[in-house]
Amino acid sequence: MDFSRVTGLHLQSMDISLYIHYPFCLRKCLYCAFNSTAGSPVGADDYVAGLLREMELRVRSLGDGVSAVTLYFGGGTPSLMEPSLASRLIKTAARLFHLAADAEITLECNPATADFERLSAFRSAGVNRISLGVQSFDDALLARIGRIHTAAEAREAFVAAREAGFGNVGIDLIHSLPDQTAAMWRRELESACALGPEHLSVYGLTVEEGTPFALLEHEGRLALPEEEASASMYEHATGFLAGRGYEHYEIANFARPGFRSRHNSGYWERRPCIGFGAGAHSLLPGTEFGVRCGNTEDPQEYLSTLSRDILPVSESRTLTREEAMAERFFLGLRLSEGVDLDRFHREFGVSFQERYGDACADLFTTGLLELRDGFLRLPSRARILSNQVFVRFL
Ligand code: SF4
Repeated sequence: MDFSRVTGLHLQSMDISLYIHYPFCLRKCLYCAFNSTAGSPVGADDYVAGLLREMELRVRSLGDGVSAVTLYFGGGTPSLMEPSLASRLIKTAARLFHLAADAEITLECNPATADFERLSAFRSAGVNRISLGVQSFDDALLARIGRIHTAAEAREAFVAAREAGFGNVGIDLIHSLPDQTAAMWRRELESACALGPEHLSVYGLTVEEGTPFALLEHEGRLALPEEEASASMYEHATGFLAGRGYEHYEIANFARPGFRSRHNSGYWERRPCIGFGAGAHSLLPGTEFGVRCGNTEDPQEYLSTLSRDILPVSESRTLTREEAMAERFFLGLRLSEGVDLDRFHREFGVSFQERYGDACADLFTTGLLELRDGFLRLPSRARILSNQVFVRFL
């Protein structure tokens, strides 16, 4: 998009992202706070029929003029879905949202649900990128966090993805797991790199309210690494992966050149995104700064709302200029390039200095922010302290 001519998020031949949420899992992991459920009474066929209905309703409310450049199946465990259903969703997205022929189409896969036959069928359906939720290559740790697969199954799933023709496979890992040591974490990174994925996402475990881990922590039965140990695991990952040719392009994400996640990059760049499914979130175009909205989380309520031909939106907020400006920084600063200050000025009619200069002055002197070639960035050593920077924009 040419931002010298377009301000805000008006709907004029706009590139968008599509997200499809599949909220079903075989079993809940002990740390999981995502909108996912095991043993739902809602069947896959009915749910996918709901997704197709939502697409029809949404395109009516948006009108023509959008063109989708990415489609992301997230969850939950979207690899549980029958590939024929994924194929119907992809075809419908192509018809209604002009999904580009070279669109990035990602499927999140749980290794326990990803054998060669299924992966081949997803490839034939049009999926061209796999995000494999490995989390750990240590069987004892996998059992402790409630994952349903082993390390061997994760390796087999990776190999199966390659055999099925996927040339773009990412692996997700979690560090700072219970009783995990620095040496254990080093082995995790070595195991992941030995497979040669194009992309790695590296998250630190956070204990979320309402999860079994929160209860265990409350009872003093969850031994997690101290903050300092956790920070050094992250630091080790950045150095180790840089040495293996991975570009650290976002706080938690690393990619071989040319293999950044186009879908997730759109989120950090504030590209409009239409989310479908229970609990899916969207940044909709059509107003100057966009509308953020979220769908109802319960799959049954989601379907019953759609059965009345009503979009299942449970929360919606039209962004103000102030909110959009803040988002531009706290999302854009996650990326290694940072935020283009000229573009920011054109987009919002105010300079960074005018709006945030005073609030951020000390961040330059303490080394948490830097200005380089017209881009405002987080220096690499400050990425682990990013939250201290982001609050200045709120
Ligand atoms: S597989 Fe993913 S979405 Fe499902 S319970 Fe585990 S962490 Fe949550």
